[in-house]
Amino acid sequence: MEKMNGYAAEVLSKLEARAPWEKQFHQAVKELFYTISPVLEQAPIYQAERILERITVPNRAISFKVEWLNDKNEIQVHNGYRVQFNNALGPYKGGLRFHASVDMDSMKFLGFEQMFKNALTGLPLGGGKGGADLLTRGLSDREMMRFCQSYMLKLQEYIGPDIDVPAGDIGVGKREIGYLFGQYKSLTHEFNGVITGKTVGWGGSKLRPEATGFGIVYFTENILNSNKDSIKGKTVAVSGFGQVAWGVVKKVIELGGKVVTLSGPDGYIYDANGLDYEKNEYMLELRNSGLDQVKPYAERFKAEFFEGKRPWVVPCDVAIPCAIQNELDESDAATLIKNNCKCVVEGANMPSTLEAINIFRNAKILFAPGKAANAGGVSVSGLEMSQNRLGLYWPPEKVDETLKQIMSDIHENCLNAAKTYNFAGDYVAGANIAGFVNVANAMIDQGVV
Ligand code: GLU
Repeated sequence: MEKMNGYAAEVLSKLEARAPWEKQFHQAVKELFYTISPVLEQAPIYQAERILERITVPNRAISFKVEWLNDKNEIQVHNGYRVQFNNALGPYKGGLRFHASVDMDSMKFLGFEQMFKNALTGLPLGGGKGGADLLTRGLSDREMMRFCQSYMLKLQEYIGPDIDVPAGDIGVGKREIGYLFGQYKSLTHEFNGVITGKTVGWGGSKLRPEATGFGIVYFTENILNSNKDSIKGKTVAVSGFGQVAWGVVKKVIELGGKVVTLSGPDGYIYDANGLDYEKNEYMLELRNSGLDQVKPYAERFKAEFFEGKRPWVVPCDVAIPCAIQNELDESDAATLIKNNCKCVVEGANMPSTLEAINIFRNAKILFAPGKAANAGGVSVSGLEMSQNRLGLYWPPEKVDETLKQIMSDIHENCLNAAKTYNFAGDYVAGANIAGFVNVANAMIDQGVV
């Protein structure tokens, strides 16, 4: 890995000393700081304006208690969060994650990543993230409704269509968005675009459920096309089996590729015949049933199941990790390269460890970071906000065309930024530089506030 600029190294070491337990947040900061180092060398204004100190502290980091009653009338207590990282480019925007791993560290890393991802979309969106340390497995509909109502009771005062616009993420799908929106409306008496990922028919945008996955595959196609190749005929390994993986599988099938793996907390499935639309829909239903296991797929469709293992040992041309942060480490990266994988596209947020990213970059395989590749989800959220403000709905074709254009612009901007700073073909550097410059310049324009 390249050398880190002195100013960046100093800011990073202060961050680490101040809160050594915020490991995931520091991982995200480190990845950014390495790749923007040449920008800092060439443009001393960022140091003069103390941008790195200012960009690594969230504008507001809210933590609140969520109390609710389960079906047995027992009192439950959880920690709720909303980190409003930066609003230099627009209202805070980012998903809500209900997952056992949620804490202030993960919220800060996700909010930080979101700020640069949103900057890459070219839409007026700041960056934020929220969630709760809730284990969603096994909760009934009514329990989820009560949890969402209690969560929104606390969150409501901090958000608004021009302040902060949450959406879904792991553990928060259209059912949860419905309950959250319903409670917001009942507390404020307002029907507005305060949250995205709403159901089509009462404020939601067409194609929002597919957007993250479709955007990832459009980005993959952009990468392969610019290397005189395409997804057609490629064997693709995917991890995860939630909404992101579902959209990826749908689009890969449509473009003539073959997805052979999916994974869950219980292990991974290998289907030599490849997934089809029906198998893909079955997986989404399985996910929505709250079971959190991929094993039933193997039983139903006669595929192989590998308990407790990750899919990266399966030979593939393209790998798309769509599960969760740090799900792909050094040894997985080395195995993928040994098996001749040509292209790795991050569907999840920060699924590769720093060491894995280094291996990919040193091997010079095609590697796209999540903040560029998975920006399609938040982009269509941005389009949902526009439709809500105008009080109309776009047809699906228009949403799809706009999404395609946004992904292609992000691809182009990443390549151009990388080239300008001697990182030709390096999407990690390109995405970080392009995103950083957008946010930093807006902060300078708006003064010390
Ligand atoms: N949770 C998604 C992400 O990580 C979507 C956020 C949004 O639509 O606001 O980008």
